[in-house]
Order: sequence, then C-alpha cells, then structure tokens
Amino acid sequence: MLTIGCHLSSSRGYLAMGKEAARIGAGTFQFFTRNPRGAKAKEIQESDVAAYLAFADAAGIRRILAHAPYTLNPCSKDPSVREFALETMADDLRRMEYTPGNCYNFHPGSHTGQGTETGIALIAHTLNQVLRPEQSTTVLLETMAGKGSEIGGCFEELREILDRTALSGHAGVCLDTCHVWDAGYDIAGHLDQVLDQFDRVIGLDRLKAVHLNDSQNPLGSRKDRHARIGEGCIGLDALIRVVRHPALKDLPFYLETPNDLDGYAREIRMLQEAAAAG
Ligand code: FE
Ligand code: FE
Ligand code: ZN
Repeated sequence: MLTIGCHLSSSRGYLAMGKEAARIGAGTFQFFTRNPRGAKAKEIQESDVAAYLAFADAAGIRRILAHAPYTLNPCSKDPSVREFALETMADDLRRMEYTPGNCYNFHPGSHTGQGTETGIALIAHTLNQVLRPEQSTTVLLETMAGKGSEIGGCFEELREILDRTALSGHAGVCLDTCHVWDAGYDIAGHLDQVLDQFDRVIGLDRLKAVHLNDSQNPLGSRKDRHARIGEGCIGLDALIRVVRHPALKDLPFYLETPNDLDGYAREIRMLQEAAAAG
C-alpha cells in the first residue's frame, strides 16, 4: 500500500501533527524542525512525543520526515552561515532521536560563488561533523532544481557528497519530482531512464523518500516553483507513474504542493486510489 502524506505545520507539536495526518487520510507526514526561516527550535516535550508515538502506532502513521530550515547553508562562503548550519543540524539530529528511525532532509546548499568543488567539500565536511555512529536517524540530501549556485541539481554532485561522507550509511537521498524536472531530468517522458541514471550514479538503495510535486515550469527551467498534482508541467499521468513505479512504490511520498488541508486530503485520496488501481 502507498505510504503518502504531506507537509504539516509543527507549531503545535507531534501529537497534533499525528492527529492532523490521520484526519486527512495520510500514512505519514513531513514537518519543519523549526521555523523554516531558521529561528530557535522549541525544546522537545517528552509527554507530547510519547503521546504521539502511541497515537502513530495505533493509527499506522510511520516514516515521518523532518525538513531542515531553508536558511541552512552548509556551503556558504560566509563562515557564520556555515556555523549556523552546523549548529542547527547537530541540534536537529539530537532532537530527532526522540522519534527514532526516521529521516532528516536538508537542501545541500548554495556555494555562493566559491564553485561546485568547494561547495561539495564544505557540505561533506559538515556531515562529517554532525553524523554519529550511534544515531538512528538517516540524513537525506534533497535533489535540487539547480537554480543559482545550488549544489545537488545533478545526481553526480550528490554522489560526490556521499562519497566524501565517512558515516555515509547514515546518509541518503530524497528525490523531489519538481526539482529533478526543473533540473532537466525528464520524469514525465523517460522515467525509467532517469531512475536508471539515478541507480548508476547514486544507487537506488540510497533513495529513502520522495517529495511528490508538480512543477509550474517546463523541463530544465531551474526555477523550483511547485504546483498541485496534475496542475503543472509534469502532469497527473506522469506523477501516477512515479507512485506506481516498482523501484519507488515502497518509498514514503510527501506532498509539498500549494494546498490547504482539504486540498492535501483530496490529493492523498486520489493518489492512493490511483496506486491501488495500478
Ligand atoms: Fe525541500
Ligand atoms: Fe522538496
Ligand atoms: Zn522546492
């Protein structure tokens, strides 16, 4: 059965997210570890986490995905921005262990003029400082649209980061359908070939999660503007092929489409029906 959910607000805690997910028919969800612009995180409430874990277990909610703030940039040329990324990731990973065995996704970063090589080295350096042998959390590099000086707009860059990460068993990749499309990977016309390429360059065993989004822009536009499922340039049929694909169908899918909760509920229901019919 398809594991699908959407991005939810974390402002009221874990139990509130679990209940919201259950109410809209989601089997999982994604949330920001703190304000997406990167403010200080609220300390974990152990009673909230305990109540959430019991609720999620009963409701069948699993494989939740935490998303680091957008402002996090481990390969900025500004040392204070890199320091913020390091401290934020270390703190987020400490807090992730309250809900063991889940994934933590981040945007690899923008090299801000230093060049791709330096950017990759700085990202791997950060991972090498924050990953711990004993952690149960897997850290995911998100595939990016490649706008500006973004790292991660091609599979080779992600492979290079993983190769330079000592504890790479604790690291993986989250594929964002809007981002790879905007980066020039034709998942609408040539899904098999794109996944073959992912497998050759990174390895499909490294793929741990999918952000399921349509795109407001055409293939290769390098824009990163999400659209609702079926209302963008990738299209409904292509996104249904994504959730049904044998190499992907057992992964957790997270919608980051411009929607309110009712809209998310509709997309979740539609995709579950499409997956079951396939
Ligand atoms: Fe993201
Ligand atoms: Fe995403
Ligand atoms: Zn995006």
